[in-house]
Amino acid sequence: MDIIKAAQALSGAERILIITGAGLSADSGLPTYRGLGGLYNGETEDGLPIEVALSGPTLRRDPALCWKYLAEIGRACLQAEPNAGHFAIAELQRRKPGAWVLTQNIDGFHRRAGSPPDRLIEIHGQLSPLSCMGCGKVDERPLPSLLDQPLPPRCLTCDGVLRPAVVLFEEMLPESELTALQQQVQLGFDAVLVVGTTASFGYILEPVWRVRQAGGSLVEVNLQATEISPLADVLLQGRAADVLSQLVRHISSD
Ligand SMILES: [Zn+2]
Repeated sequence: MDIIKAAQALSGAERILIITGAGLSADSGLPTYRGLGGLYNGETEDGLPIEVALSGPTLRRDPALCWKYLAEIGRACLQAEPNAGHFAIAELQRRKPGAWVLTQNIDGFHRRAGSPPDRLIEIHGQLSPLSCMGCGKVDERPLPSLLDQPLPPRCLTCDGVLRPAVVLFEEMLPESELTALQQQVQLGFDAVLVVGTTASFGYILEPVWRVRQAGGSLVEVNLQATEISPLADVLLQGRAADVLSQLVRHISSD
């Protein structure tokens, strides 16, 4: 049975890189999306492609417009909760002190489910807290109250526009997260567990290739086969929340 085969591959590994994407949070009711944009198909109601509305240049040029869509994403995340898949991953990390999470998601669900922040790489950033684009100050007010005010939310100190530390379209990935990822990839992983992502970005494909070349295992959990499926030892097709809970039950800690 595939789940046993996958569990065996991960049981024998000490260092595991768990790569998660939108498909994991889809089981929490969040829509799957490409980057930040998939809450929408194609154009926004303002007639702009979402890649333009949710871009760094638009945030600077027309912060109210960009924030209209940022706030929708914020509200969707605030209404949702981590699911059994996030909790199973946190449990796997408790049993495997060498297990790291690399996520494309900005919803913060891994932290809420108990994944240790020092073994979590949020490559697209996180929605809260907000900080000021003018003076740089971090705003400690809770996100729901900031979203209830007229948009864009503004800094109490200098009235500058606040923004979340997420990677908008046309923005660079955060240096700190890229460095952390690079360091861990160089240390090597015995196995990769890919969950809910097509993994079509270089920063994801590279660690996957490296682990494969070094003889490590690759386990994939996705609804459908993806472009990395041909590389995988096992493809577990199904909802991440269901599959991961079963998988982790079969994994021993040593
Ligand atoms: Zn400020």
